[in-house]
Amino acid sequence: MKLTKQNLQPATEKIYDTIVVGGGAGGLSAGVYLQRYLLNTLIIDKGKARSFWMIELHNYLGLPPDTPGRSVLRQGKEHFLSLGGDLLDAYVEEVIDEGETFAVKVKVGRNNSQYHTFRTKYLIAASGIIDYLPVLENMRNVYDYAGHNLHVCLICDGYEMTDKKVGVFASSAGNAEVVFPVGWFTGEITLFTQGLFEVNDDLRNRLEVLGYKIEETPVEQFIGEDHQMTGVELTDGRVVELETGLISMGSQYHATYLNKFDLEKQGGNLVTDKMARTSHPRIFAIGDLKVGLNQVVIAAADGALAATQIWRDIRRSTPPKTPTK
Ligand SMILES: Cc1cc2nc3c(=O)[nH]c(=O)nc-3n(C[C@H](O)[C@H](O)[C@H](O)COP(=O)(O)OP(=O)(O)OC[C@H]3O[C@@H](n4cnc5c(N)ncnc54)[C@H](O)[C@@H]3O)c2cc1C
Repeated sequence: MKLTKQNLQPATEKIYDTIVVGGGAGGLSAGVYLQRYLLNTLIIDKGKARSFWMIELHNYLGLPPDTPGRSVLRQGKEHFLSLGGDLLDAYVEEVIDEGETFAVKVKVGRNNSQYHTFRTKYLIAASGIIDYLPVLENMRNVYDYAGHNLHVCLICDGYEMTDKKVGVFASSAGNAEVVFPVGWFTGEITLFTQGLFEVNDDLRNRLEVLGYKIEETPVEQFIGEDHQMTGVELTDGRVVELETGLISMGSQYHATYLNKFDLEKQGGNLVTDKMARTSHPRIFAIGDLKVGLNQVVIAAADGALAATQIWRDIRRSTPPKTPTK
């Protein structure tokens, strides 16, 4: 059932088998599996998933390569709800371990917010990440192109860069290393440091050997029309023509609600076992938030693994069904 401020009270009085934080590709996949295992599931999602910014899902078997991320989400939500799952648009602020259960504290609504607590035996963290973008005075200018031909994911969109003039926009020498795998797809590469970091001699030499350019003057604005970026104007007035771009500036990890838990991490990503279980036995992590490949197919598969392991755990501690007559 779609929960709202008006009808959520009964849900705060029960104990869910699983609460899933995040209703993107991973969370919805987990929800579908959990409901099909006859487990009570609540997905809490604040919206604007990374999947939502995906203009076209290019590489998912069985779906046309121009499938928009938002139609995957819409269909996934309908599927989950059709199986009797509960779905709430809200922000998870904090999770507290109560021993047998978790208390999940949420804020519902940006205006006239309500604060509620839901309870669950298991928790799946499916809250993902979000890409840092270049910070320009006019951010509208960045949003006009980001996700279109100004990409954020080389695995997703390297193919679209084949033999094109690519601008790589990095925020650190570490992030700039992505230039070298971009070189698999095209040799026409300019690295834009945007004045954010020094290019050390080692990196400069490796770029020069391959004939890749370096532009250290900050970007004033992206140029183009109809969401197709055709170049950048720099703060000194020069214009660099491009056919496509890749932003490599790191990501924000959506996991502050887990701050009270000392979960094992690698960088910002949660470490899990092969069934997506974290270092806490009743917390699972799936999709972009966990160590692995940031892809829809992986998030969906993680959801299947986490749900199946939770079902196994619950099934093993519950007597099986017997004949009713
Ligand atoms: C522009 C772009 C293009 C891409 N192209 C492709 C592609 O072609 N192929 C491909 O396989 N992958 C692609 N990806 C990557 C893909 O989108 C991600 O790998 C995938 O969405 C990860 O799914 P997820 O469920 O882990 O996270 P998400 O889809 O990001 O979902 C996480 C959800 O959790 C919510 N959330 C976060 N914090 C909280 C909180 N505290 N409380 C409640 N909810 C919360 C978020 O708002 C979000 O709705 C692309 C990504 C981008 C940005």
